[in-house]
Amino acid sequence: MAPKDPETPGFASLGLTPSLVLAVTALGYEEPTPIQREAIPFLLAGRDVLGQAGTGTGKTAAFVLPLLQRLAKEGGKKGTTRGFILVPTRELAMQVAEATHKYAKGQNLAIVPVYGGAPMDLQIRSLRRGADIVVATPGRAIDHLKRGTLSLASVQVLVLDEGDEMLDMGFADDLEAILEQTPEGKQTALFAATFPKRLQGIAAKHLDNPARVTIAAEKQAVGKLPKVRQTAYIVARPQKMQALDRILEFEDPQSAIVFCRTRLEVEEVTETLQAHGYGAQAIHGGMLQKQRDRVMGLFRSQKADILVATDVAARGLDIEHVSHVFNFDVPLSPEVYVHRIGRTGRAGREGVAITIVDPRQSRLMRNIESLTRQKVDIAALPTTADLRARRVTATVDGLRATIAKGEFKELRGVVETLAQEFDVVDIAAAALAMIDDSGRSGAPAPAEAAPARFERPGSSDARAERPRPQRPERFGILHIGAGANAGIRPGDLVGAISGETGLESSLLGRIKIDDEESYVEVPESKMRDIVAALRATKIRGQKVPVAPFDAGAPRKDARR
Ligand code: AMP
Repeated sequence: MAPKDPETPGFASLGLTPSLVLAVTALGYEEPTPIQREAIPFLLAGRDVLGQAGTGTGKTAAFVLPLLQRLAKEGGKKGTTRGFILVPTRELAMQVAEATHKYAKGQNLAIVPVYGGAPMDLQIRSLRRGADIVVATPGRAIDHLKRGTLSLASVQVLVLDEGDEMLDMGFADDLEAILEQTPEGKQTALFAATFPKRLQGIAAKHLDNPARVTIAAEKQAVGKLPKVRQTAYIVARPQKMQALDRILEFEDPQSAIVFCRTRLEVEEVTETLQAHGYGAQAIHGGMLQKQRDRVMGLFRSQKADILVATDVAARGLDIEHVSHVFNFDVPLSPEVYVHRIGRTGRAGREGVAITIVDPRQSRLMRNIESLTRQKVDIAALPTTADLRARRVTATVDGLRATIAKGEFKELRGVVETLAQEFDVVDIAAAALAMIDDSGRSGAPAPAEAAPARFERPGSSDARAERPRPQRPERFGILHIGAGANAGIRPGDLVGAISGETGLESSLLGRIKIDDEESYVEVPESKMRDIVAALRATKIRGQKVPVAPFDAGAPRKDARR
């Protein structure tokens, strides 16, 4: 594999300015998605664009990055609306505005979302303060145009996002009315997943010789795909890490690659998995070749059993023993999916590919199915009972192996004595119950609790000795009043908690880091000690508010 430059050359080669390349690099993007690769050069050249792409293909960046670059180049009066993005729904308006903020970081542009269902006066005030870029739903845009609180006279770039959805929602007349108010000579981009007749009509009328950008995925010959069991779990975004944890525990992969979209996600997932006792290692394009070689060495020799990777970093890796591929997110294009699952099922062995799907990404999953002409099963997450059944099966397998080896003769006497008092079957069942219990409470060495782990062919010692995550019965949620913006990372929280209280990191549950706050699942019985210890210390050199988090609290407060 040719080493990739950590500077994300893929984006620079599209003609984006260094500051925009830097912005996407800071977000952890490693390479443009197909729609970005296709659409960005046309938009930067000033062409109108008709783009066929749905949600989850990276289309927002495909139109926002060139929009930002053009606004910077064209100049114009600060505070007048020069970029105008129309979207069908309130949610999308917020999402696109948020994404635009991120891409425009440091550019001193005012980005104002304007959508129905929110108070008019607040939006009017924001618009009056000056809005360089407005992201609007059609109905509310019309309201503002009528009141004179929004003017489109200076628009240089107009984007119609999810045009087909806007028509489906009955916004056709509004769209026409809005388009009439935009100036001649502006650049227009229209994105949609499908192009019904009416949308084609609008495009023909309002777009000037548009470049057509279609991400036509080539059908893969089914025969060429490896033998892979493909499963998807539908999981809402905040629960993804917990879901991954649970599936990992259930599947118990011999060796796995977890694919993430961005470098930041790779780092976050790796740190959380490590904190939970997995031998996980990160690999992404931002690392030096030497670091990557070291990680690959660990993975090849099975000293690390989970590789958490971006696509760029995993490209071209040929590893024989990967039993499972996990997609922490649906990949941004079906080709990437096919490439990822090709990492497993090597050498004729059957592999397993598991995808965690945000409910909003189910269309992407259907695209993938149609491209590969293979079915992806949708499964329910393993329940606690499933996990328990799995543990018992493993214990029983281990028991069989131990009996076959006969290395327990000195213990027969103990059982014979007990047998004078109890039924032999009861004794054996009680012994199993103790093993199962210890697997959860973390008392004896986990290797003893699940001897089956030593028996699997191909399992290395390093792997067998890995402490398994041992979960307490009940977690409480610890709330920390600082997050990513304060530089907090999972490792800081795990370090602070185990450093200050001596609690083993494997006893911690999920960790979630938002911009301004963080949450950690901690054993409920240790909550008080942990809160007290953290209040008396600093995290990342700063005092931070720490308290038990009560998920039901806001409702309780509301009742009071
Ligand atoms: P979109 O289709 O625009 O809604 O984007 C879907 C998700 O992909 C968003 O969370 C983006 O932040 C992310 N994304 C967009 N482009 C890239 C890229 N080139 N690499 C990694 N993630 C991306």
